[in-house]
Amino acid sequence: MSKVRHDWTKEEILEIYNRPLMELLYDAATIHRKQHNPNEIQVSTLLSIKTGGCSEDCGYCPQAARYHTDIDGNDLMSVSQVKAQALRAKSSGSSRVCMGAAWRNVKDGPEFDQVLEMVRTINKLDMEVCCTLGMVTENQAKRLSEAGLYAYNHNLDTSEDYYKDVISTRAFEDRIDTIENVRKTNVTVCSGGIIGMGEKLEDRAGMLVALSSLNPQPESTPINALVPVEGTPMEDIKPIEIWEMIRMVATTRIVLPETQVRLSAGRTEMSREGQAMCFFAGANSIFAGDKLLTTPNPDVNEDMEMFKTLGLNPQKPFKKSTQPQTVEAEDSKLNSLGEKPKWTRPDHKIERNEAAKAKAKA
Ligand code: SF4
Repeated sequence: MSKVRHDWTKEEILEIYNRPLMELLYDAATIHRKQHNPNEIQVSTLLSIKTGGCSEDCGYCPQAARYHTDIDGNDLMSVSQVKAQALRAKSSGSSRVCMGAAWRNVKDGPEFDQVLEMVRTINKLDMEVCCTLGMVTENQAKRLSEAGLYAYNHNLDTSEDYYKDVISTRAFEDRIDTIENVRKTNVTVCSGGIIGMGEKLEDRAGMLVALSSLNPQPESTPINALVPVEGTPMEDIKPIEIWEMIRMVATTRIVLPETQVRLSAGRTEMSREGQAMCFFAGANSIFAGDKLLTTPNPDVNEDMEMFKTLGLNPQKPFKKSTQPQTVEAEDSKLNSLGEKPKWTRPDHKIERNEAAKAKAKA
């Protein structure tokens, strides 16, 4: 078994990232084969349960209200709508449903109660349930856990240094605090980031330093490639080359040997050959479905055809930890505390975010 290290330095990670590609691939694939079945891929379906109108200013995100992109916003979906979509995802080979709401943070109240009911409903379908709802307090994380949540996604996005160039409405430490709150429960942690936002290689390494230093390391790590969306501050950034994605996946596999590494946004821009190289380099999870929250994603049938060509099989649920028990709302011993936490608001501004906001207003 490869040893899990929590003390990687940026220099060590950069040395790995910059290895001759064939060596990097061989090293990553060797670790991958020791820790995982290389022919199994975990398939997650991402469902946007509440779209758009977000108060945050993440420079890559079309759901931020301030940028006025042309996405179709929607209020919180009903439990029955979510159940229907989960059943469809299950029949197409997904083992996990990840529900995303465009919120800065969770607020106690009827909407959160509705999300808890969605979690109970999907867990009863014997699927892994994941939520990405923004920042959560310890009590909110415990209530999600009690409902049967399997994983909570909270991406670090980038390095601590570059974070201030991407988002001004919250701080990097807020992300870490939420991950710590989730770790106080039995819910597994999903946390990763985005490459191709104009960051330096040092920032990609810095993000991996932060992820690998978490103890335990996240059970899953999505690696996204920026999909530039018109109207966002990052609309003009040129998409990265496939080689950068392959290097990032391989490096992530080496420093997070036990983690499920997920190919996420940006897959539509990748050829099958490129994706196959990512799987060889240690990616063992994908997001399925024709949309990733608001950006395009390959059709699920295309993915299943690709799996057939490559001899890959969708993984069964609950490989990383056992299925959580669901406690019904009426049997819950945890109360809603009426929390409407403020979290921090750093006092810096990001020029390109401000410019995009001004352009949208004009
Ligand atoms: S990434 Fe999430 S928090 Fe940031 S603007 Fe988009 S929906 Fe809001």
